[in-house]
Amino acid sequence: MTHQRKARSMIVLPDARLRQMSQSITTFDQNLVEQFTDIETAMRAGPGGVGIAAPQLGDNRRMVVVDCTVARHPCRNHGLLHLVNPEIIEHSDDEILGREGCLSVPDWVGMVSRARIIYLKYQDMQGETHEMETSGFEARVIQHEVDHLDGVLFIDRVVSTHDLVRRMG
Ligand code: ZN
Repeated sequence: MTHQRKARSMIVLPDARLRQMSQSITTFDQNLVEQFTDIETAMRAGPGGVGIAAPQLGDNRRMVVVDCTVARHPCRNHGLLHLVNPEIIEHSDDEILGREGCLSVPDWVGMVSRARIIYLKYQDMQGETHEMETSGFEARVIQHEVDHLDGVLFIDRVVSTHDLVRRMG
C-alpha cells in the first residue's frame, strides 16, 4: 500500500475558521515545505486560482501562495510566490477598483478598491526575509490573501452590496 497524503479540501463560508486571526510562523522545516505543496495543489485545483491563503484549508498559520502567471489577463508579476508571514509595510494612496472572487466564497464576485502599489515584507520557506514592490493585479491578489490571514474576506470590502453579484456560469 502506498502512502498517500490526504488532499485538503477548501473551507467555505460560513466556516468560522475563515474569520480567525492566523498565527505567525517561527519554525522553518520540512513540514512547512509539505504544507506549501498542499496549499499550492488546492489553489491549482480551484477555478481561476491565482492565490490562496492557509486559513482557506483550515490551517491557522500565516502562509500564502500567489501565482499571477496563470491570470486570465496578462499582467506584470513575480511568478510563483511562497509567502511566509507576509506584511504590507507601505502602500500607495491611490486605489484601483477591480472585480474579486474567492475560492472560499463560491458563486460571488464583487468590486473592491485596493492600493495600486504595495511594499511587501515576507519570509521564504527557509526563513530568509525579503522585501518586494508590486502593483496592479498582483498587488490586488496579495492584499486579498493577506486579508485572509487576519480573518477578512473581500465581501467585507465591497464598495457597496449592489456590487456583490452572483458569478455567471
Ligand atoms: Zn480569497
